Amino acid sequence: MPKETESNISIMCPNLTCRKVLMVPHNCRGKTVRCRACGTNIRVPAPKAAGISLPPPSPQNPRPNEAA
Ligand SMILES: [Zn+2]
Repeated sequence: MPKETESNISIMCPNLTCRKVLMVPHNCRGKTVRCRACGTNIRVPAPKAAGISLPPPSPQNPRPNEAA
């Protein structure tokens, strides 16, 4: 098992009027962080780990559960 580094991930704010480079912890990968400068939600790119086959998450699963 590869040892995780404690280095942060540097991402640039997609806001063209901000473009601030943010340093986010590596544990925020795959998550969404908010720019402290402009408040834009930035999605932290997941690590390039090949071989991971996770099922796609379904946050919105409309299930007609109408129990009277
Ligand atoms: Zn920003």
